[in-house]
Amino acid sequence: MTTRPLSLEECLVEYPRHGVRGITVWRNALEGRTITDSARMLNESGLEVVSLCRGGFFPGTDVQLRERAVDDNRLAIEQAHAIGAPSVVLVCGAVPGQALDVSRSQIVDGIAAVLPDAAAAGVRLLIEPLHPMYADDRSAVNTLRQANEICDRLGSPMALGIALDVYHVWWDPELREMIDETARLGRLGAFHLCDWRTPTVDLLNDRGLMGEGCIPLGQINGWVEGAGFCGFREVEIFSHRWWSVDQGEFLKRIAASYRATVAED
Ligand code: ZN
Repeated sequence: MTTRPLSLEECLVEYPRHGVRGITVWRNALEGRTITDSARMLNESGLEVVSLCRGGFFPGTDVQLRERAVDDNRLAIEQAHAIGAPSVVLVCGAVPGQALDVSRSQIVDGIAAVLPDAAAAGVRLLIEPLHPMYADDRSAVNTLRQANEICDRLGSPMALGIALDVYHVWWDPELREMIDETARLGRLGAFHLCDWRTPTVDLLNDRGLMGEGCIPLGQINGWVEGAGFCGFREVEIFSHRWWSVDQGEFLKRIAASYRATVAED
């Protein structure tokens, strides 16, 4: 999604040229060919598939909507399994006007319904807490603490983990402590990087390249590494500004800012 103007085919050619070793695949990028063909392409590319994005959106005002969401998450788990993605990132959902505690309990119910499918497929569901500015419509799970509480409530199954995206949690006064806790409990399953621009002109699609904003990326990266996380550091930038430039140039800028902000050598 970071290089949205590129097709999946183009990403698989361009990413290795810029030193990128893995890819998280968004489900819309699987459209237009069979899942077997997508899996073969990904396998032949040499890139490691990090996650499938995304499942979730469990809350709904009636039972049919919630059942449809559960079915869609089962499909996401199947797709992840088919393309060799070890995890599905969950944007948990919310319904504007519905009490947050209702949405939150529907999220717990939704995850509980699909956990056996995830476990059977060997796919891990990763709850991604979203910035509270999205609490009305995209996710009623807004902090690492809340995500951990959901894992606790569901019995801390192996098939459930947490995705940490700096864009969503950088402001949290408990961030360091919760990174340690999440990692200590073996739940830290993904680490997403970008930056927070001031002012942010679009709540969804104005993320900054690392170094363009105010997130202390080096510090947070140090905490994540210090907690023992050794998975991929995924650059995840949704930006109309960056999508409008040549994507090869953008990839060069990504590689340079990645090295400048979080790479160790
Ligand atoms: Zn993310």
